[in-house]
Amino acid sequence: MSTRLDVMRLNCRLVTRVVAEQVFAATLDLGARLPPQLARARMVCIPILISVTRDLIDREMRGPAIARGPSINAIASSLELPFETVRRNVQKMVDIGWIAIAETGGVSLPSPMPATLADWCLDLSRRLRRAAATMEALGATDRGSLGSGTCDNSCVLAALDQFLVMASTSKHFDLRFTELFLIHLVCSASVAHLNNQPSGTTPFARADTIPHAEERAFVPLAELARMLGISRSTVYRIVSDPAYAHLFDRRGNGVRASDGFLTSATYVEALELVAGRTATLFSRVERHRCGRGCTALDHVLRRPRPWRQSPGVAQHAHAG
Ligand SMILES: [Zn+2]
Repeated sequence: MSTRLDVMRLNCRLVTRVVAEQVFAATLDLGARLPPQLARARMVCIPILISVTRDLIDREMRGPAIARGPSINAIASSLELPFETVRRNVQKMVDIGWIAIAETGGVSLPSPMPATLADWCLDLSRRLRRAAATMEALGATDRGSLGSGTCDNSCVLAALDQFLVMASTSKHFDLRFTELFLIHLVCSASVAHLNNQPSGTTPFARADTIPHAEERAFVPLAELARMLGISRSTVYRIVSDPAYAHLFDRRGNGVRASDGFLTSATYVEALELVAGRTATLFSRVERHRCGRGCTALDHVLRRPRPWRQSPGVAQHAHAG
């Protein structure tokens, strides 16, 4: 009998597409919610915030014994960003109350965290469940993944981990975050419609089933710039860089991932990594049992219980 891990790794293109769609929507959504002072640096602030938030939620869920946040150095090396870039942007976020630095030097979020960020986190659990439901409908995971009774906090943590897994594929491609994000976004945006295929069809799901050329739209550069909140000239510079020419197909003002990139061993390896880690994260959410850490976390997330009990209650609490 094949396990969830086998099924998801087999369907690695589909799993990554669905994960990427949710990860990018969430990332772009966070970018749109950032205070205007951070807008220009959002491609650096977003990964830092996600990394710090992930760390805080993990520590809260483990309990009060692990109270210290990561150092700036640890954040810089985990995100593969220059120390000075991270230090400067962390300071910028400290100045406006989005990040707090303890006397010990640990970087964390203020308690309670900024309301905008807390709302965004709670959306993440909905996004993760939506991704699981889409995969299930397309036959890329087992029935009832992340079913009722799973903890929202645990889903939030898993969704933040998914972002970091996607970001970690920079090692495969030797790209910086903005370039990596752009190529993943292009891959995902050019075939987003494939996830609307009827159930059980697993369209272009496996490593050896690359979407046909006619199934892959060219994404206008202007649209990419708008989605990413970066200038058109930056997008233009990346897709025109001879060093990245093998990644992209160009037509007029549109761009899509090249056949060479989509079939490359490196890309397939990244797909299998994302799919495998997603299977592991789903199983972790299902194994999770709420403890005192979860109750504490509800307060950090500005959402005292019983918001978890049912979707109806959650909606109500959200409205309040
Ligand atoms: Zn829990």
